[in-house]
Amino acid sequence: MFSNRYKKLTPYVAGEQPKDKKYIKLNTNENAHSPSPKVKEVLENFDTDRLKLYPDPNFTGLRDSIANAYAIDAKNVFVGNGSDEVLSFIFFTFFDNKNGKLLFPNFTYSFYPVYCDFYSIEFDKVPLQADFTLDFSPYLKEESCGVIFPNPNAPTSIAVKSDTIREFMDAYPKDRVVVVDEAYIDFAKEDEDSLKLVKDYKNLIIVRTFSKGFSLAGMRVGFVIADEAIIDALYNTKDSFNSYPCDAISLDVAKAAIDDIDYYRYSNKKIVKTRDKFSGDIQKLGWNVLPSSANFVFASHPTKGGAEVYKFLRDNGILVRFFDKDVLRDYVRITIGNEREMDLLTRIIWELGK
Ligand code: PMP
Repeated sequence: MFSNRYKKLTPYVAGEQPKDKKYIKLNTNENAHSPSPKVKEVLENFDTDRLKLYPDPNFTGLRDSIANAYAIDAKNVFVGNGSDEVLSFIFFTFFDNKNGKLLFPNFTYSFYPVYCDFYSIEFDKVPLQADFTLDFSPYLKEESCGVIFPNPNAPTSIAVKSDTIREFMDAYPKDRVVVVDEAYIDFAKEDEDSLKLVKDYKNLIIVRTFSKGFSLAGMRVGFVIADEAIIDALYNTKDSFNSYPCDAISLDVAKAAIDDIDYYRYSNKKIVKTRDKFSGDIQKLGWNVLPSSANFVFASHPTKGGAEVYKFLRDNGILVRFFDKDVLRDYVRITIGNEREMDLLTRIIWELGK
């Protein structure tokens, strides 16, 4: 009954959503704050008769708004059903085994190997440095069909500067793509944002999402910013899979959100402030916190392993993410919640002791 293709799948495992009691959920990197009030307005005033019709397959209104927000051309924007779907289209369109393997960091977003299996793309995991920072030199030593990495990286939260990415782009072959997955860029510093590089590199793909910086994980909208030839290719892939990956409501809501980008700049700044305060607070308790440019921190207790910390916090009603592999198992990944949640977490961490 089942295809061989299907039998070989290894699905991605998302963060748990337990229903046994109410938890403070700091395990899936959602935004701690509500969406813009403009989002509520759109939902309240949505003309349900529009649902009789298919949505716009070209995402015209939303593309224009994204272009407007970032002072780019709509021709350089592609939209999809969350950045996971956008990533899937990119893997399908640009990566094969022709020029070598796909390269990505050894500790990174665990969906990348899943898509590699799905599309039979061979890959090599390139080790991060001992301090979890990304060094590009090994990426230039091996022939590859492309490179992908998140900036800031997940789960480490560490970002590289766009000047470093520019140097890498100068050295990397121009006939294959480099994908910078900027899912968490809205919490990073300006000099870590690579959008400005797109006009200079026709083989650079920036992937972004409304899930994190725009508080819309429940809506499923992601987008790409890249050269027009890349965008056209992604449209061809989409139209070979599903002409309408985003529904009419999501397109309107995402448009309202990005039209109100100043609201998010303000509310994301608050998250950065809470993150930095929380990091300082637990450092005082002896924790090691990696320097975060995201809406989460990757942190380890002075003596206890990640599994023990994860369990203690879970027993105390707080969910964080634990990765049971290699050196990652010393750490937990903690999404930055609101100030009240983080103060409560700090208190519970204090109770855990040294
Ligand atoms: N990239 C990275 C690095 C992520 O952590 C996530 C969220 N799990 C995504 C992409 C996908 O986000 P979404 O599909 O919600 O846009």
